[in-house]
Amino acid sequence: MTAPLIDPFQRAINYLRVSVTDRCDFRCVYCMSENMTFLPKKELLTLEELDRMCSTFVGLGVEKLRITGGEPLVRKGIMTFFDAMTQHLDSGALKELTLTTNGSQMERFADDLYAAGVRRVNISLDTLDDKKFADITRWGRLPQVIKGIDAAQKAGLRVKINTVALKGFNEDELFTLLDWCASRDMDLTFIEVMPMGDIGNEDRLDQYWKLSDLRSTLRETYTLTDLPERTGGPARYVRIEETGQKIGFITPLTHNFCESCNRVRLTCTGELYMCLGQEDMADLRAPLRNNPGSDAMLQDAIRAAIALKPKGHDFDYSRQGVDGRVSRHMSHTGG
Ligand code: SAM
Ligand code: SF4
Repeated sequence: MTAPLIDPFQRAINYLRVSVTDRCDFRCVYCMSENMTFLPKKELLTLEELDRMCSTFVGLGVEKLRITGGEPLVRKGIMTFFDAMTQHLDSGALKELTLTTNGSQMERFADDLYAAGVRRVNISLDTLDDKKFADITRWGRLPQVIKGIDAAQKAGLRVKINTVALKGFNEDELFTLLDWCASRDMDLTFIEVMPMGDIGNEDRLDQYWKLSDLRSTLRETYTLTDLPERTGGPARYVRIEETGQKIGFITPLTHNFCESCNRVRLTCTGELYMCLGQEDMADLRAPLRNNPGSDAMLQDAIRAAIALKPKGHDFDYSRQGVDGRVSRHMSHTGG
């Protein structure tokens, strides 16, 4: 048997997040500038290379794959990749195949994703107001995403909504979003804005709505019980006793979740980031491309990279400014 991936801090790495494209059909203001420059196509791993890369990780003990981007469902031929991963679900090596999407293409793909073995999806949605949705995503349209959510649920996919908490933008929709998710039997997770990438003229501190403040607002109306559930990531969950609804909070800035981190992130060009909040990465594309006949070099490169996984990130919103900023965009590492 192959030895599992264990990092220097004795954390078992069994979760891989894969960005399959840096391209997107939206231009969310906190994520990208409107005139983003995308990578030349030849830099991207081909679908076959993505398959080989992920299969190698699964061979090394990765049990959960989350496909993300950019917008994963705008990558041409992406179902070929999902279909290739089905064999690992069938063999039992892979326990979960899932994705994070903006939902715009979900209507087209929901049934195929279910058939490939996907059972849960995260769909990002920051507002239920048509005009605000168009403003925040610049290029997105709310009805298209709602249709995508309808299609996902109809196909049998369990949907979790991810909402970036944005001061002065969706503060007033907290209870509307909560009620809407409850009425559709969807869990809801709030994400704190992270200082990633140049986004043009927007100011991070202006956007920053502390999730501890959001929690306090919820507590004024509801009884919240902390849930012990841990996924090895930054999410923490509470149950609203009055409705039974589960709410998640992703707070990399106000809480440190690093001690239990079980994940690494692969970019669409084959760079492996051992930590979302650090610049260090390992190139896996060269060992993959230079050795078409064997995965041994790739496996060695993966092990060497995991041996360099740092203890934690350095994000910090101090009173004066944003520290620990990383220069790459969230769409590059996939969030
Ligand atoms: N396009 C897909 C989507 O929007 O779900 C997948 C990629 S997107 C980068 C993944 C998640 O990261 C989304 O929920 C998005 O809202 C979130 N995100 C993007 N930029 C962020 C930032 N600067 N801070 C916090 N979350 C961010
Ligand atoms: Fe695209 Fe997702 Fe970034 Fe929005 S958050 S621009 S949908 S990658």
